[in-house]
Amino acid sequence: MNGGGASWARAGGAPPGLRDAVVPPLHLWRGLLRAAGQELLPQRYRAFVLLARVRLWALLWAVGVPLWIPFDLLLIGGPLGRRLALGRLAVAALLAAGAWLCRCAPRVHAVRKALAVLFGAPLLYFMVVVPAAVHASGLPAAGAALREGYRLMPLLIAASIGLLPVTLLEGLAVAGGCLLAAALGHYASGLPATGAEFGRLWVLLVAGLIGTLAGVSQTALLLQHFRDAATDPLTGLLNRRAGVNLLALQWEQAQRGRRALSVAMIDLDRFKRVNDTYGHEAGDRVLTAFAVRLRAALRAGDALLRWGGEEFVAILPGAGAEEAARRLEQVLREGAVTGPDGAALTFSAGVAERSREDAPGPEALVALADRRMYAAKAAGRAMVVGSDPGHPQAATR
Ligand code: GH3
Ligand code: MG
Ligand code: MG
Repeated sequence: MNGGGASWARAGGAPPGLRDAVVPPLHLWRGLLRAAGQELLPQRYRAFVLLARVRLWALLWAVGVPLWIPFDLLLIGGPLGRRLALGRLAVAALLAAGAWLCRCAPRVHAVRKALAVLFGAPLLYFMVVVPAAVHASGLPAAGAALREGYRLMPLLIAASIGLLPVTLLEGLAVAGGCLLAAALGHYASGLPATGAEFGRLWVLLVAGLIGTLAGVSQTALLLQHFRDAATDPLTGLLNRRAGVNLLALQWEQAQRGRRALSVAMIDLDRFKRVNDTYGHEAGDRVLTAFAVRLRAALRAGDALLRWGGEEFVAILPGAGAEEAARRLEQVLREGAVTGPDGAALTFSAGVAERSREDAPGPEALVALADRRMYAAKAAGRAMVVGSDPGHPQAATR
């Protein structure tokens, strides 16, 4: 463990990375506010976790809600008891359908639908069925107690926001829905707006805010842990595992929108000599500087991954092979990175573009770019190869 790592174990410190999870760094806040503020990969990851959670809760509630039916029939009974019981069956059916819907691809709009079903179904029940129970007179004592439980429904629903990794806007939307349902439910019951009722709404508002904060802090932890798991510790770039997932998403989007998607495999030339001559740490510094240089040559929407060792993969959505090769060739012309002795180091790269090749999937596209990178090595290094032998699109420094 290095010095920075060890210091947290002494009093007052925090494990590296965990500090950010406790107080999220500034760049995470946009993603905590709304899903659109998250990058594609963490956005899908959060959606995946949230949909899995909603599915679990929707299933549990779909089973649990009808279990209360005997109490409606026994303690309240009559047409009202039957109405409450039927309402419960309808809510259970909606929740079961919602759980089934959650099997879809983890996208932002799927998250909205899932939240709408999970929280909307019981709130609808509260607005449509419960006012009659609140209004009913002559209930036995146990029935009246049960009715009081019904009146607390929005409170329970608002508190359960904290079970899910929501964004601030999602949490507030659900909390607002709970408040609205409670107010409308009270209005529908025909009871006067008493101070006690306002007190109930106030507690509901606070419960909704606490639930939202609990949910948002789950999202903060999730995004932070995702970042840690997806980042290459030396260069700060995406690591290979995250990069493979990102490429799969980019491939799917490019295919759907019939857009170009280029991939470049980039490998430093004769890098082993740097290590052998100046040591591994000097080699590390060269790798980091090279990562910064490559990143600067790419557009904001492009991704750069550390594929492993001194190999990097660039993903350029919307860019043709020529555009990708042009950017890399410019880096070669202007100088990629200098070694510890100040001498310029070069790289070799292979480029492949989705719509131009008959690659069946992202792995095959990377394999093609890799083959072309080796072709560039074989042809003398310090060049970018964008097509197969016979049509070299190579540029030397
Ligand atoms: P070529 O032009 O054929 O690519 O030659 P090369 O020397 O770059 O290629 P080779 O694959 O023989 O060597 C790659 C070296 O990269 C070997 C390994 O020691 C070094 N390397 C891999 N990962 C790291 C790392 O994280 N830090 C450092 N300093 N070196 C690394
Ligand atoms: Mg190399
Ligand atoms: Mg290599």
